[in-house]
Amino acid sequence: MTKDLNFFNTLTNKKEKFVPLNNNKVGMYVCGPTVYDFPHIGNARPLVVFDVLFRFLQTLYGKDKVTYVRNITDIDDKIIESSKKNKKSIKELTENITKSFHEDCRYLNCLNPTFEPKATEHIKGMINMVTNLIKNNHAYINEKHVYFSVSSFKKYGKLSNKNSDQLVAGSRVEVSKYKKDPLDFVLWKPSDINDPGWDSPWGRGRPGWHLECSVMSEKFLGKQFDIHGGGLDLVFPHHENEIAQSCCANKTENFANYWLHNGFVTFDKEKMSKSVGNIVTINKLRKNVNGQVVRLALLSSHYKQPLDWNEKLIKESQNTLDKWYSQFEKINPEKLNEDILQPLQEDLNTPEYITKLHSLFEETTKGSKTSKIKFLSACRQIGLLEEDKQTWENFKKSKIKVDENFINKKIKDRNDARKKGNYKLADAIRKELEDNGVIIEDKQKQTQWKYK
Ligand SMILES: [Zn+2]
Repeated sequence: MTKDLNFFNTLTNKKEKFVPLNNNKVGMYVCGPTVYDFPHIGNARPLVVFDVLFRFLQTLYGKDKVTYVRNITDIDDKIIESSKKNKKSIKELTENITKSFHEDCRYLNCLNPTFEPKATEHIKGMINMVTNLIKNNHAYINEKHVYFSVSSFKKYGKLSNKNSDQLVAGSRVEVSKYKKDPLDFVLWKPSDINDPGWDSPWGRGRPGWHLECSVMSEKFLGKQFDIHGGGLDLVFPHHENEIAQSCCANKTENFANYWLHNGFVTFDKEKMSKSVGNIVTINKLRKNVNGQVVRLALLSSHYKQPLDWNEKLIKESQNTLDKWYSQFEKINPEKLNEDILQPLQEDLNTPEYITKLHSLFEETTKGSKTSKIKFLSACRQIGLLEEDKQTWENFKKSKIKVDENFINKKIKDRNDARKKGNYKLADAIRKELEDNGVIIEDKQKQTQWKYK
């Protein structure tokens, strides 16, 4: 099949044909979690989106031809704050959250990235990059802090498509008396005696957040590579700063060639925030919703668009998968033709791909074995229906709070109530069963029931 693939590139602000630096290989870097608190549904979106991209690139280029790097930020001010607040050591906190994050990834059926470097394992590389930037007048030292001098990099702002004044006005820039310019950002800062720190030419301290991605992407993918991904909130300042550091330290024109950013996730049309208390963490979802339902729900909107997380979306995704599982079989996936994959080739258009899955499902109901294999292979392309049917059913059953005796008794009570014309009570019983995960249907004078 042809390797035609088009992406909307944030860097050029247009859709472009994807041409990797090396014809047969692809390198992709995606910013991973800062392990200070349990990841939420907004964090799940890039995990799933870039997992679908990783799988698709593997289909196009070959399994061993795609290198996917996703870092873990295990040193950061937020981690230090959270460790103090929760009275846990940094080690305990970061190990605990990292473990939970990995469970989230398995729950969402995300493949492991090729490399998953931790920031604290690459401090030496970061010190080398800062030394290099100072030597070449891209950074300056002030009171044990080292700052990147934004005015030394002419292309600053290209990714966000804004000039310096607009960037400062949109201000998420940190205010500090040690900076020469408000846009300058910290590369290295001193650590208090009780906080984690490493010896450096500028005293004991720790790196600024942006630095690690520049250092680790170079280590695993080289000075220039193909795809850089992350959430829309990372465009400025994080990704803008990664570009500045890397291009200046490596003396290159470009850093990553294609920048892909996924849109925000809202909860019931509201912005998720700690102060509102409407943050849906993935580890909480794990208890009630099958990971595939979450995965399908997250892929139901195009990755660049905003996505609203709500009960209706979860229900619809659950129903779709329930229906699809009726055709489940263990198969060896077959190669999919271009017609099926076409939506993914057009900037990873998952909603259109899901529409294709629905029509492939319709074909399976005509009973041919080949249409079934085609449908199941197409589901597996985006990481769905890889879990067998029994596990899917068992998870559903485990969420049910009532047993069959209870259900039969309630159905009898309801029928008695109806006979007596007490429809109010009959409706109340129906509602009670539904609240317990049981749906009833009256068919030819008989009441049938099923778990939802
Ligand atoms: Zn990053």
